[in-house]
Parts: sequence; C-alpha cells; structure tokens
Amino acid sequence: MRYVSTRALAHAEATPIAVGLSDALNAGLAPDGGLYVPQSLPHFAPQDFAGATTLPAIAKILLQPFFAGDALESELAAICDQAFTFAAPLKRLPLAQTYALELFHGPTAAFKDFGARFLAACLQRIQRDDARVLTILVATSGDTGSAVAAAFHNVPGIRVVILYPDGLVSPRQAHQLGCFGDNISALRVAGTFDDCQRMVKQAFTDTTLRELLPLSSANSISLGRLLPQMSYYAWAALSHWREHNSPLNFVVPTGNLGNAMAALLARAIGLPLGEIVLATNANRTLPDFFDNGEYRARPSIATIANAMDVGDPSNYERLRWLFPDTNSLQKTLRAIAVDDATIRTTIAAGEKRYGEIWCPHTAVATHVLEQLRAENTQGDWAIVATAHPAKFDTVVEPLIGHAVAVPPALAALLARPAHAEPMHAEYAQLREWLLQRRDPHADAPTD
Ligand SMILES: *Cc1c(COP(=O)(O)O)cnc(C)c1O
Repeated sequence: MRYVSTRALAHAEATPIAVGLSDALNAGLAPDGGLYVPQSLPHFAPQDFAGATTLPAIAKILLQPFFAGDALESELAAICDQAFTFAAPLKRLPLAQTYALELFHGPTAAFKDFGARFLAACLQRIQRDDARVLTILVATSGDTGSAVAAAFHNVPGIRVVILYPDGLVSPRQAHQLGCFGDNISALRVAGTFDDCQRMVKQAFTDTTLRELLPLSSANSISLGRLLPQMSYYAWAALSHWREHNSPLNFVVPTGNLGNAMAALLARAIGLPLGEIVLATNANRTLPDFFDNGEYRARPSIATIANAMDVGDPSNYERLRWLFPDTNSLQKTLRAIAVDDATIRTTIAAGEKRYGEIWCPHTAVATHVLEQLRAENTQGDWAIVATAHPAKFDTVVEPLIGHAVAVPPALAALLARPAHAEPMHAEYAQLREWLLQRRDPHADAPTD
C-alpha cells in the first residue's frame, strides 16, 4: 500500500507523489501540508475474520493490506501484540439495544492509548538513516499528550515535546502530562489548544528548523494513530455481527475527527458498522457544516468536554477525501452539538439510567443517542466511551455526589511528581526552546 496527500488529490494532480507506510509515519504531515491517505482501499467481508476473536487477532488481519509492501509488514503481528495489551469491552447497558464501547482501559485511561501505543511500536521499529534524536511534537487538548508520553516514555532515540493550553485541561490531565520526565517534556502554553496546534504546524512547515532537528508528529493526523483505531470498531462490529447478524451503529464523541474517521474508514472497507453519528460539544464547526454545507473553521470554545474543544478539526481533509461530494456527505453523516449544561445533566442522570459514570466526552455521545431515540431511531447502538470518568473528577464528582474510583494505572501516574514549563503562545519561543533543548537528557527537570 502507498499513501498520498489529501491536497494532491484535491488539486487532481495527475501523478500525486506516493510514499510507503514507514515514510508516511516518519513524516506525520505530507510535505504539501496535506494528510496522508491510502492510495486505494482494501475490501473485507466479515468471513475474512473467521477464527479471529481478540482485538490483536482482528487487527492483524485488518491492517495487513495497509502494511503490505512496507518494511514494517513483517513486524505487524509484533506491533499489534505490543500495542493492544488491554481490552475494548462492548458492554451491554440496561437500556434496550444500547451498548457502550469502552475505550479507556489503557495506561492513561482514554482511547488515545490505542493509537499512541501503536504509533510508538511502529516508530520504534523504523530504521532511520538519521542518527539524531527524533523529536515528536504534540499539541494536546488533554488526552493525546499523556497517551503519547506513556507510549514513548524511555524509548531510545525519541523524545516527546507536548504543548497544552495552560488551565484548559483538567487538573488530572495536567498532572499526567507533566509526570513522565526523562525523554518527555511538557510545555504549558498561555493560550488555547488552537494556539498549540498552530505552533506545532508552524514547526512542521519550518524547513530550516527541520534540517536542524528531525521532527515527527503524533497528533491525530498521523496515520499511525488513524489506522489502528479501526481495530476496536472492527472488533466491536464483528462481535455484534456474529451474535446478531446485523450491523452495529455508533455515536462517536468528536473533536479532531480522528476517532470518527477510523469508524468511517472501517465501514468503508467493509466492516459491519451501520450508522455513525458525530457528537460534538459546543464547538459547532461540524454540526453547522452538516446543516448548511459550509465549512467555517473558527476559534475553539472551552467546554467541560475539553478534549473535544476544537474549532477546526484536523482530520476534516480526510473526511472530504472519503466523501468528496458535499451533498452525499450531508446525507451520510450527522453531527449533533451538546452544550455544557446538557453534559452536566447527562452525567448526573447516568448512574441511575445506565448504571454508568460517564466522563464529559462520553456524556456528549450519550445525550446524542438519547436525542436519536427521541426521534424514534431504531437498531442497536453503541456509545463510544472515550475516557474514564476519574480523569475528570473535578467535573464529575460534584454532579454524582460521590468520589469516582481511580483505575490503578491512572493512580500510579498521579502518584508521580509533575513538572511543566511555561511558554507564550508564540512560535518563535517554541522554536528557540526546541533548538536549545536538542538533547533531552542535558537539562531535564529533575523534581
Ligand atoms: C481526543 C478525545 C476525543 C475526541 O477525539 P477526536 O479523535 O479528536 O475526534 C473525545 N473524547 C476524549 C476523551 C478524547 O480524549
């Protein structure tokens, strides 16, 4: 399989430059600023997965065509076994025809662990000509940074630099970002997630910097995150198919469209997913686009579902690659926005109604499903549960009136000391910092 840039395709270039998987993973973003997408799509039927019942077993079959012809092809099985060491349970809820796909059983308690661990397992195995340390630059609205930090912590030859909006992530998210040390640096930026994302993008287009410093990305634009995220949708949809012989529908909490793109891609290559509905917080870029067909990027708004505070979803170009025609896209997909007040009431009602404590992001999806049911939508639906509620204790606990038990992996991270360096929302300062701190071991914080 070869990969091409969404922008080359958008400009209908006769022969777009195609690269192999390893090159696409190393680069993160395509040189023209577009996102890498597969040059062609494989096609699967449920029978192709006969005998495969675990997440890694399904992932090995599903991802094989995407690795075909690349140096990593022979490593795919080992990569899946290394990355997918925790389950993604499809839990039946006490309401009829309703499930939760729990994606928060990894080391940092959010779905980002699947993609980050898979990407790390890939990058670790790619032979690079460059002997210098590879810098992985990540902007995070909360959960990506810690998942990437956990996945790359102490991986030789790689350092991770995380930018997050100071004060706009939950206290436990902030702690997780700063608690690794060693080859991981956390920068708390006096700005929004959009500022962090802009600074990272600027670094990627800074050719002089990139000559001085090998850079790679681990944001949701990376193929190394997008591709493996298909695995849990494939797993859940196949489990449901085997039991009921019908497709499973999903409501996906959505910010940068990484998780939802994986669901759409899994369906496009033949997995038995039914409808996919996007659930957003008060950041209405996608709901407005589906309403009026006009995509208008805007500044993000801070909400209590902070990992979805995105005003210009970075995977939007991939969405348009998969659905170039606006009219048919509007017919295929819906996005529904949920405000903070509704998120709060959904969390408060969650224990009684579902026997579940929802994180604010999962509550967004739960409310969207309730809205769909009120419109008399039929069929089996899964709420995609993207994070553990204990990550958002300051929001969740006052609403449910008691403490949320902390999963052991999260507790272990919270017990470590944490440190983050302040930074202005200015690219020049980031650039300077990156160049001065080329050796992560030279003056790493020691507290
Ligand atoms: C990142 C994140 C989301 C949004 O996922 P995207 O891939 O950016 O759309 C939703 N919920 C949680 C808990 C997250 O960490």
